[in-house]
Amino acid sequence: MRDMHAEIRDEVNKLCARFPGEYWRKLDAARGYPTEFVQALTQAGYLGALIPEEYGGAGLPLSAASAILETIHHAGSNAAACHAQMYIMGTILRHGSEAQKRHYLPKIATGELRLQAFGVTEPTSGTDTTSLRTFARKEGDKYIVNGQKVWTSRAEHSDLMLLLARTTPKDQTAKRTEGLSTFIVDMKSSLGKGLTIRPIRSMMNHNSTEVFFDNMEVPAENLVGVEGRGFKYILDGMNAERLLIASESIGDTKWFIEKATAYANSRVVFGRPIGQNQGVQFPIAKAYAQMRAAELLVHEGLRKFDAGEHCGEEANMAKMLAADCAWAAAEACIQTHGGFGFAEEYDVERKFREARLYQVAPISTNLILSYVAEHVLGMPRSY
Ligand SMILES: Cc1cc2nc3c(=O)[nH]c(=O)nc-3n(C[C@H](O)[C@H](O)[C@H](O)COP(=O)(O)OP(=O)(O)OC[C@H]3O[C@@H](n4cnc5c(N)ncnc54)[C@H](O)[C@@H]3O)c2cc1C
Repeated sequence: MRDMHAEIRDEVNKLCARFPGEYWRKLDAARGYPTEFVQALTQAGYLGALIPEEYGGAGLPLSAASAILETIHHAGSNAAACHAQMYIMGTILRHGSEAQKRHYLPKIATGELRLQAFGVTEPTSGTDTTSLRTFARKEGDKYIVNGQKVWTSRAEHSDLMLLLARTTPKDQTAKRTEGLSTFIVDMKSSLGKGLTIRPIRSMMNHNSTEVFFDNMEVPAENLVGVEGRGFKYILDGMNAERLLIASESIGDTKWFIEKATAYANSRVVFGRPIGQNQGVQFPIAKAYAQMRAAELLVHEGLRKFDAGEHCGEEANMAKMLAADCAWAAAEACIQTHGGFGFAEEYDVERKFREARLYQVAPISTNLILSYVAEHVLGMPRSY
């Protein structure tokens, strides 16, 4: 797996070298968007990696996208500003009409249209997605959308949003997973016309927002696939998302381990490197062992995904274990740095905050454990 994408890793590393810690630190303080970084990735074709060549993309397998994202995080950069562009388009690719694919995918591949926003989570329903309340009512050749999303990342830096909304009330469907539909929302033309975006300031620089829909009109032709099947379409994309987020966490883990090891070897206290103390070595070594195990599971998930096999078990467990090892490495790294771990110029505290997210989003650890308990081990559904 590693050798297969060595060239991609080298090139992504070179690109990231143009965006050192200082670049990310400044953005972090200002809660700014890494426009130049995202443009560089787009121009190099990385964000269109998964778009088939016939629609203007690179037509690469998921393992290549994983190598790109892992390398970005390993280099100390952060792909959160743009990673969704890679996988959200999968819903259009798999379930969109030929006209939608021809219209959107080539423009997404060139960056002319940014598909960065994914509107699923709502303040009241949370993880219980099928209870979401945003409703799209069909009126002639358009849908009228009312409701609210929360934690919609990058909404201010996206041209399009993939929106999940109810089109049939939950109590009028045979199954709770039915009656949800997926839409492509042209955010630029809707802004101020039923669409309002409000930034949420959070622990790390993630460009998250709240999004409000007040009689927002969406042309009926922007419905993806069949009305009422949207939940299934979103689920179809989740294994790819989990494996890619896991890859980022693996990259973060490698960054923390290298940073911690270098500091442990160079910092001298009591006349010897602090790394000579087992109390300093062991947490770093343990995080490394955890990372290697998680990485193997990511690779197995990628292998299955790219072979067209079902990889729900691997994708979910890889995402959980990778987020856990990133957090273990983050903890070891900040502790190894002592007081300097808290100084912004070391980048450790920034990466520490950034790495924590992935135990909660895009799916929390508890929900992954529930998946494993129910779907892998055969225990009763707990919720
Ligand atoms: C920075 C950031 C960016 C995000 N970006 C996006 C985005 O772009 N688009 C989007 O749609 N969403 C986004 N999210 C939302 C994210 O996916 C959710 O926060 C996450 O899925 C958890 O949902 P929740 O916050 O509603 O928590 P809740 O569902 O309220 O859960 C709260 C806690 O309770 C636990 N819990 C809930 N139910 C159970 C259960 N049955 N068993 C055991 N434990 C349970 C959860 O594990 C969690 O720890 C983002 C979130 C953050 C913080």
